[in-house]
Amino acid sequence: KARLIVVFGDQLSDDLASLRGAVPGRDVVMMAEVVSEATPVPHHPQKIALVFAAMRKFAARLERRGFRVLYTRLDDPANAGSLPAEVLRRMAETGLDPLAVLPGDWRLRAAMAALPTEWLEDDRFLCGSADFAAWASDRKSLRMEWFYREMRRKTGLLMEAGKPAGGAWNYDHDNRNAAKRDLLRPAPLRFPPDEVVEEVLDLVAARFGSHFGKLGPFAWPTDRDQALEAMAHFMAHSLPRFGFEQDAMLAGEPFLSHSLLSPCLNLGLLSPLEVCRAAEAEFQAGRAPIASVEGFIRQIIGWREYVRGIWALKGPDYLASNALGHDAPLPPVYWGGPTKMACMKDAVGQTRDLAYAHHIQRLMVTGNFALLAGVDPEAVHRWYLAVYIDAFEWVEAPNTLGMSQFADGGLLGSKPYVASGAYIDRMSDYCGGCHYKVKEKVGVTACPFNLLYWEFLDRHRDRFQGNPRMAQMYRTWDKMDEAHCGRVLIEGRALRARIAAGEVV
Ligand code: FAD
Ligand code: SF4
Repeated sequence: KARLIVVFGDQLSDDLASLRGAVPGRDVVMMAEVVSEATPVPHHPQKIALVFAAMRKFAARLERRGFRVLYTRLDDPANAGSLPAEVLRRMAETGLDPLAVLPGDWRLRAAMAALPTEWLEDDRFLCGSADFAAWASDRKSLRMEWFYREMRRKTGLLMEAGKPAGGAWNYDHDNRNAAKRDLLRPAPLRFPPDEVVEEVLDLVAARFGSHFGKLGPFAWPTDRDQALEAMAHFMAHSLPRFGFEQDAMLAGEPFLSHSLLSPCLNLGLLSPLEVCRAAEAEFQAGRAPIASVEGFIRQIIGWREYVRGIWALKGPDYLASNALGHDAPLPPVYWGGPTKMACMKDAVGQTRDLAYAHHIQRLMVTGNFALLAGVDPEAVHRWYLAVYIDAFEWVEAPNTLGMSQFADGGLLGSKPYVASGAYIDRMSDYCGGCHYKVKEKVGVTACPFNLLYWEFLDRHRDRFQGNPRMAQMYRTWDKMDEAHCGRVLIEGRALRARIAAGEVV
């Protein structure tokens, strides 16, 4: 039976479940650029441009395969403005019933619910929602590490005769290094805009120019061929150093040895398994060390699959999680407001310029600061969803609400990712150029992370004191001089109140 196949903007895979059995000449494909998807949060202009450009190129690719594609551009006068309205319009036009792959966004699922759509599971993940639910069902704690080992066994990645290659499952102990400046560090491959991208950039500048973030220079891969090139370049040049520098931060060096492949993966231009197989091949050929390759593969078949599983398992209510009862507004620095904190300035500045920050910047700078400052996790979630090039709800929400803000009460992480300035100083070169002094614990130039860290631990003592992974921190605090602790708390609370009032820190 002929179908109207609806392809959403992050479903740009040749092998998408709904396209797999589709027949050119019989089935019709529809895609739509709609304002209702670009504005629930003020998405970064580069991200809107990436999605629209990649959609246009994917539509052309399907046409080359012989499909009739009904493609609605944003500025098409007939554009109905939302995906359900566009689907209704195309149903009336074609007389066909829709078939689609379930989107990774609860809001869109709800919006589409009234239509007579046949839904297919998104099987571009290595672990389907049902398999994850089965894995989670008989466990008290959903530790990522156990899930990851199952995924290694299931995929056979880095497995030798049923055992992990090199003898260990995890080589993170080799990977927690600071980085040094290195003019010879290979840069990721960037792609100057082609004609399709240029046209989209003009549209985005006109329609979404007021959103936080710079539109140019735009350099992301926007089609499968470019994604494959970016992947091959990363494997050949940056993967060997990936693990070594994974947790490091250097001012003005946004990429270090990271892959920048998350947007390609999340749009469906690359599949997780092909990326992992390419990395494994580098290890097998002796071109990249096990610590790098294992670390890289763990991020994809471990973390990426795991957070998708949690998102699907917990449903839409997860988005309202706020276990710590935090309610402060998001400080203006997140939208580019002034700050004296060098680390925040760098992380937010590159987010504005590139729509990109790497994991440790997201987790231990902007995430850590919001958590310590007691910011409402929903506001934090909306920010991460808006500003990053790779942010789609299924992956962003568990990372932000669970891993970074502890809003789910410890489902995803066994302890909150909080740290004082000492951690940032160890892993970066930010502190040398900062107005604040990382070694100072109290006083007007004390690093804000130092004050907020102890104030956070004190404020949430009832919840965390019994946590074995945090006991040492409480012992350290309890051994400190009482008068000093009193001062830290008074200054820490005052600082938090100033941050909540939107003052510049
Ligand atoms: P690399 O460092 O090169 O890692 C390789 C790949 O591993 C990435 O491309 C990505 O696909 C995967 N990966 C690594 N860590 C994670 C993780 N924790 N969860 C899922 N996949 C992971 N990632 C997103 O793709 N979208 C998001 O919206 C997103 N939001 C985040 C919000 C917060 C608060 C935090 C702490 C992390 C978030 N991450 C998100 C995870 C991670 O920061 C990014 O995947 C990574 O920085 C992307 O850059 P890269 O491709 O250079 O990654
Ligand atoms: Fe960040 Fe504190 Fe270091 Fe300044 S001193 S860069 S605020 S960690």
